[in-house]
Amino acid sequence: MITQSTSAGPLAKRYDAVIVGARPAGAATGMLLARAGLDVLVIDRAARGQDTLSSHALMRGAVDALDRWGILPGIEAAGTPPITRTSFRYGTDVTAFGIEPLYAPRRTVLDPLMADAAAEAGATVRHQTAAAGLLRDDTGRVTGIVVDDASSSDRGREAVSAEIVIGADGLRSWLARQVAAPVTRSGTACASWMMTYVEGADLADDGYLWAAAEGALGGIIPTNNGRHILFGGIPRERFVTSVRGRVEEAYLELMAELGDDMYEAAITARRVGPLRTFPGHVAQFRQAFGPGWALVGDAGYFKDPAAAHGISDAVRDAELLSEAILGGDLENYERLRDDLSTGLFTILERIAGFDWTLDELPGLHRTLSRVMRDELTRFESRHESRPAVLAAA
Ligand SMILES: Cc1cc2nc3c(=O)[nH]c(=O)nc-3n(C[C@H](O)[C@H](O)[C@H](O)COP(=O)(O)OP(=O)(O)OC[C@H]3O[C@@H](n4cnc5c(N)ncnc54)[C@H](O)[C@@H]3O)c2cc1C
Repeated sequence: MITQSTSAGPLAKRYDAVIVGARPAGAATGMLLARAGLDVLVIDRAARGQDTLSSHALMRGAVDALDRWGILPGIEAAGTPPITRTSFRYGTDVTAFGIEPLYAPRRTVLDPLMADAAAEAGATVRHQTAAAGLLRDDTGRVTGIVVDDASSSDRGREAVSAEIVIGADGLRSWLARQVAAPVTRSGTACASWMMTYVEGADLADDGYLWAAAEGALGGIIPTNNGRHILFGGIPRERFVTSVRGRVEEAYLELMAELGDDMYEAAITARRVGPLRTFPGHVAQFRQAFGPGWALVGDAGYFKDPAAAHGISDAVRDAELLSEAILGGDLENYERLRDDLSTGLFTILERIAGFDWTLDELPGLHRTLSRVMRDELTRFESRHESRPAVLAAA
């Protein structure tokens, strides 16, 4: 990696916004800014449609946004099954209810559809292209980046300048490191997760299943091609002491704790793809903007996957950031992001910290649901004040 303290030079292509990362946060921000008429470049070092380590249960906020933006029909056309039921299982006690359709599209489906929406809106979207250097002016303001294009044999580096460089580049954000964006708030809870896809599992058609046992969380998520995600989470201390070096055995033990159906599916259904682990990371907010730069999605605000809320927050914050850029008020972006996220952050500290007994968890999940509903209501209630150009988009 290089960091340059020079400007891009007079011949550099100039954009209104350059976005690093073309998954939910970056693609959505690129799409919204391009729809509003800005000249936008979105780059991602990954190939188009490349998978990533994440389950992908979408919550209401994400589904609403994808619907509003006209991306949902593509998700349905890709055969993503609508989820019309959700069940919570605590030991052997089950509560199930019907819901308005949600979806859990594979990231190999969702992410390219979102990148395509950005391109259709007029953004230039380049995959297999990495941000490899930061450009600043004499005052230290970020003025652009050096991009490293690996998409063709005549790969090369090129400087591009921009009014604003946006890091939508995930938890370990390259841009956040370049600008030394401070962590403004962090949690302490840290769960570790294991997940895999299975095909042909003999499972009840019960939509999203969230299962819990004492000291364990997990569930089943139906996704494309008749496949299901089987996943489980445990306290990080247990992961460190009893999973490392014996992941397969530990995974089967965890599935057995979470229910006979999950264990049966884990041992009898055809596994599609590897068993993957995420050792965990505490929740954190990073400073959301500075001179010439901003962060969005996991780069700016990460939380434990226990709430399955990362993609919903990524698209929410893409909308807030786009509005703030168009309205020239980035402080309001950071304020709203932090404010809307506080309820979830607080309740997740307990859930992902395994700070509960099985008797207490249903109450925490009810609080989580209420917090999500309240957040959505507050988010939607500010639509009237959106810049006209975004409302039209
Ligand atoms: C185990 C696990 C399970 C999860 N389950 C769910 C779930 O069920 N539901 C849910 O909503 N969320 C879930 N999440 C969270 C979700 O995956 C993230 O919140 C979401 O991917 C964030 O999107 P993003 O666009 O901010 O960043 P990312 O999806 O992380 O994308 C960042 C992109 O930036 C690119 N990039 C990084 N550096 C550079 C660079 N220098 N140059 C160019 N490109 C770069 C990367 O290639 C990457 O494609 C889960 C996460 C984990 C780890």
